[in-house]
Amino acid sequence: MPIDPVCGMEVSEETEFKVEYGEKTYYFCSPHCKAQFEANPEKYVKEEGMKHEHGMHSHTHKHGRGHGCCCH
Ligand SMILES: [Zn+2]
Repeated sequence: MPIDPVCGMEVSEETEFKVEYGEKTYYFCSPHCKAQFEANPEKYVKEEGMKHEHGMHSHTHKHGRGHGCCCH
Protein backbone atom coordinates (compact mmCIF):
# COMPACT_ATOMS: atom_id res chain seq x y z
CA MET A 1 0.00 0.00 0.00
CA PRO A 2 1.35 3.43 -0.85
CA ILE A 3 1.61 5.99 1.88
CA ASP A 4 0.13 9.45 1.72
CA PRO A 5 3.30 11.52 2.19
CA VAL A 6 1.39 14.40 3.66
CA CYS A 7 -0.32 12.69 6.59
CA GLY A 8 1.40 9.30 6.61
CA MET A 9 -1.75 7.32 6.08
CA GLU A 10 -1.98 4.24 3.89
CA VAL A 11 -4.03 4.78 0.77
CA SER A 12 -5.22 2.60 -2.07
CA GLU A 13 -3.39 2.76 -5.36
CA GLU A 14 -6.78 3.09 -6.94
CA THR A 15 -7.40 6.42 -5.36
CA GLU A 16 -8.17 9.28 -7.67
CA PHE A 17 -5.96 11.54 -5.60
CA LYS A 18 -2.52 11.03 -7.01
CA VAL A 19 0.29 13.12 -8.37
CA GLU A 20 3.19 12.18 -10.56
CA TYR A 21 6.26 13.92 -9.32
CA GLY A 22 9.78 13.14 -10.45
CA GLU A 23 9.89 9.45 -11.26
CA LYS A 24 7.33 8.47 -8.70
CA THR A 25 3.61 8.61 -8.25
CA TYR A 26 2.35 9.78 -4.90
CA TYR A 27 -1.05 8.83 -3.57
CA PHE A 28 -3.23 10.79 -1.20
CA CYS A 29 -6.16 10.13 1.05
CA SER A 30 -8.02 13.26 0.05
CA PRO A 31 -7.95 16.30 -2.22
CA HIS A 32 -6.77 18.23 0.79
CA CYS A 33 -3.56 16.24 1.12
CA LYS A 34 -3.03 16.28 -2.62
CA ALA A 35 -3.33 20.05 -2.67
CA GLN A 36 -0.85 20.35 0.17
CA PHE A 37 1.61 18.18 -1.68
CA GLU A 38 1.21 20.12 -4.90
CA ALA A 39 1.76 23.36 -3.05
CA ASN A 40 5.08 22.20 -1.70
CA PRO A 41 6.11 18.83 -3.12
CA GLU A 42 9.76 19.10 -2.23
CA LYS A 43 8.93 19.23 1.43
CA TYR A 44 7.11 15.93 1.34
CA VAL A 45 9.46 14.20 -1.02
CA LYS A 46 12.31 14.97 1.34
CA GLU A 47 10.43 13.74 4.34
CA GLU A 48 9.94 10.44 2.68
CA GLY A 49 13.69 9.99 2.90
CA MET A 50 13.40 10.29 6.67
CA LYS A 51 15.46 13.41 6.71
CA HIS A 52 14.16 16.40 8.50
CA GLU A 53 16.31 19.27 9.52
CA HIS A 54 14.29 22.39 9.85
CA GLY A 55 16.58 23.94 12.37
CA MET A 56 14.60 24.85 15.42
CA HIS A 57 11.65 22.50 15.23
CA SER A 58 12.44 19.12 13.81
CA HIS A 59 10.19 16.51 15.31
CA THR A 60 7.42 14.91 13.37
CA HIS A 61 3.91 14.10 14.47
CA LYS A 62 3.35 11.41 11.94
CA HIS A 63 4.41 8.41 13.93
CA GLY A 64 2.08 9.00 16.83
CA ARG A 65 -1.05 9.48 14.85
CA GLY A 66 -2.11 5.89 14.51
CA HIS A 67 -4.94 5.67 12.04
CA GLY A 68 -5.52 9.37 12.14
CA CYS A 69 -5.32 11.69 9.25
CA CYS A 70 -4.59 15.36 9.02
CA CYS A 71 -7.74 15.97 7.10
CA HIS A 72 -10.32 14.74 9.53
ZN1 LIG B 1 -3.91 12.54 4.05
